[in-house]
Amino acid sequence: MDMTGARELARALMDEHGLHRWSLEFDSAKRRAGLCRYDTRAISLSRPLTALYSPAEVRETVLHEIAHALAGPKAAHGPKWRRVAREIGATGQRCVAEDAPTVPAPWVGQCPAGHRHERFRRPTRPMSCTRCRPGFSVDHLVLWRFHGREVDLGSRYHSELADARARYRRPMLPL
Ligand SMILES: [Zn+2]
Ligand SMILES: [Zn+2]
Repeated sequence: MDMTGARELARALMDEHGLHRWSLEFDSAKRRAGLCRYDTRAISLSRPLTALYSPAEVRETVLHEIAHALAGPKAAHGPKWRRVAREIGATGQRCVAEDAPTVPAPWVGQCPAGHRHERFRRPTRPMSCTRCRPGFSVDHLVLWRFHGREVDLGSRYHSELADARARYRRPMLPL
């Protein structure tokens, strides 16, 4: 299926099922067709696999990921996810490559509001929580742990963080 058609189909299905505030992305994965990203509220489709799929297969992939978005991260591929998938019209058949197995990410971060973020690579730059506020904000900084432990993220990280703090510091308003 061509990308324009896939984009329109996916967007229409996402809106139909209430995911108006979720974004649609494309990635270059070759072993899984789709991905549901709870941290950034995005559904991502593999460009190379989408190009190979029929419209029916793309539709199935998108519905599979929409069901993940609606069922929540804890449902995985369990009964709750299967029920939602059937309700929204996914066949539930494995006609397309299964999405990525849920390998736990070694880097887990939390913003001050408790939103969870995961990374497979060491964060090299300060990151703030986009669920709390779009764009960088030192007030919504994500604090990272590696396999549950606090670790030093290195001098580059610290100097960028110091710069960011200096840049974004606002004068305290008198109460
Ligand atoms: Zn899945
Ligand atoms: Zn947050």
